[in-house]
Amino acid sequence: MILLQAFSLVVADPEITEALDLETGEIRHVHDVVGEDYERALQLRMALKQGIAAGKPLLACPLCAVPIHLVSLAQERRFYLRHETEDGRCSARTKGGLSEKRILAMKYDGARESAAHKRMKDIIAESLLGDPDFSRVEIERVWKGEMANSRRKPDVTAVWKGMLPVAFEVQLSTTFLRVIAERRDFYLRNGGLLFWVFNRFDMGDARLTQEDVFYNNNRNAFVVSEDSLAASKATGSLVLECVWSEPSFEDGQILWSQRKRRAKFDELTVERDKQRVFLFDADAARGACEALTKDWPMRRDFREFWLKRNGTHDDARWLDLRRRLAERSIELPRWPSDGEGLVSLLDTLYSAAEGHPVGWRYADLVKIAHHVFDKHKGYLWHFKLVLAAHGRGQQILAEDTTGKWRSAKVKAYRDAWSRRDSAFAPDRRYDALVSILFPEIATDLPEAPS
Ligand SMILES: [Zn+2]
Repeated sequence: MILLQAFSLVVADPEITEALDLETGEIRHVHDVVGEDYERALQLRMALKQGIAAGKPLLACPLCAVPIHLVSLAQERRFYLRHETEDGRCSARTKGGLSEKRILAMKYDGARESAAHKRMKDIIAESLLGDPDFSRVEIERVWKGEMANSRRKPDVTAVWKGMLPVAFEVQLSTTFLRVIAERRDFYLRNGGLLFWVFNRFDMGDARLTQEDVFYNNNRNAFVVSEDSLAASKATGSLVLECVWSEPSFEDGQILWSQRKRRAKFDELTVERDKQRVFLFDADAARGACEALTKDWPMRRDFREFWLKRNGTHDDARWLDLRRRLAERSIELPRWPSDGEGLVSLLDTLYSAAEGHPVGWRYADLVKIAHHVFDKHKGYLWHFKLVLAAHGRGQQILAEDTTGKWRSAKVKAYRDAWSRRDSAFAPDRRYDALVSILFPEIATDLPEAPS
């Protein structure tokens, strides 16, 4: 900002440092408003004056919402913003005495005066009116708290399913996330639910990702627009554009990416005690990813060892893996081939995971499948789960040119499982090891095959 000031047309120490754009609801810095082009600044000055004269001001003071215009110091060729009326009520003059928190709260109230904010309120109210789950839809109804003098005036209120009062608060700017965080407490104490609504939401915004509020809502945010209003009207229910962060586990790290889709309000999970509403449970997904992270180095090293194993047996490596697994109470034989069925099992599962034969001298997965069916029925369940987890269904189907696998064998093992045929019962000897090496099937593995 210091660099900017050197080229700016703004006076050195302006009293009003920010302006509320009454059209978009954004709060812009005075240097951004005035810009660096003298001619443009003069045109803006004219436009601001005309707007005020016509009763349609373009900019207002973010603290008191009084329209502002641009004053020109012709000799210095510099500008500053000034209230249309200076009656001493605005704290921009005295803000040294105000806490940052108070200033933010005032700006928040000021920002509600914008055309965009008003339109957002109407969109929410209109969307709610068509939804039979919501009743008592009201704009800016005063909500009195239990404590004396505590009250709020949320943008829109409605009662969900006859029992839960919901306060909808519009957010046009991430500036105010902190204000909203403070307000959650009010609704928590007074039996309501605070629901934030944005006009856009992009987590690529670095400032935002550092804010507490998004994370306090399980990394979900909700957007309404003219499009969502049309969808609400078409379906007779409150439709929102949901934006969330989704974790994935790649190369030992958890990566977060942004996802979005439209959803109806009744698809959302409401946790009133935590003041959270979400479509995607990011906390749960993160827990699952963290479980994957835990054994990642061992899993990676074991896989590397096993995939190279056919060329050369690296004995030092094997002993190291054996020692590390022993720390997890998993006993491995001195040599891989000493474990009964161990090599067959791991060759089979790595083949399924990798999508091509590992260890086996068969040409493709379906031939391995036939072999497992014929010789290792106890591993059919493990094999099936890994194939499914890695989306190998289509591949097997394509490789099964004779159709023998799907017409005879698949049917046979399914029938055997459903009648609990002991010949097809899963061989559980290495399940603990398999769960560490193939965490993608660890949840389903202990179940009975189905
Ligand atoms: Zn002001």
